Amino acid sequence: MKENQMESYFQFIRVIMERINAHFEAQKEYIHCKEGCSHCCQNGEYPCSELEFEFIKLGFMTLSPDIQQVIINKVINLKQEKEKCPKGQKFIYECPFLIDNRCSIYRHRMIICRTFGLSYYDKDDETKKNTLKVPFCMNEGLNYSEVYDKEKNTFSTELFKKTGYKAEPVAYNLGVQFLMEKFGKDIMDLDFGEVKALIEWL
Ligand code: SF4
Ligand code: SF4
Repeated sequence: MKENQMESYFQFIRVIMERINAHFEAQKEYIHCKEGCSHCCQNGEYPCSELEFEFIKLGFMTLSPDIQQVIINKVINLKQEKEKCPKGQKFIYECPFLIDNRCSIYRHRMIICRTFGLSYYDKDDETKKNTLKVPFCMNEGLNYSEVYDKEKNTFSTELFKKTGYKAEPVAYNLGVQFLMEKFGKDIMDLDFGEVKALIEWL
């Protein structure tokens, strides 16, 4: 990873946040995110690049020693749990930065945390084709649950008509890899370094 990229990374975050915020605004009828809702921070692998992790460390340094210690303890426990996870099985865990259902490093959170909640297109792990992805909280009656047809993996026109909503549901080009390559690498010449699950950096 290149050195001294933080200034360009701030700019990258500003650029993608403008785009992401506009999408959230356009899709607000389908978005049920509210303070205290944190299912999305409780069940994940949280892919994180080396550059994003450098930014997280800056956020961690701003926390009080008490909060830092809480996070350190969580990480120690998680590492122990991970040891017990059978090889080849995904280790799904609660993010250690989640404290009292709030993100303790909100301004420094990863790219995946910023896009989560919207529907988007991304490469399917198996078919490698661009596929519609909806947030998993759709299964809990939250985002896009009014219009998503699970069997066909598509938005249903019938269901949309029933909602009476103004905006049609839209899936955006918001895969983390796409954002890194399109805006980070191509426009700002950022080098994100290796990408791995958050727990692997801790
Ligand atoms: S994305 Fe889903 S789980 Fe996460 S805050 Fe929004 S509604 Fe809650
Ligand atoms: S960094 Fe913050 S927003 Fe992202 S998963 Fe962890 S607690 Fe949630």
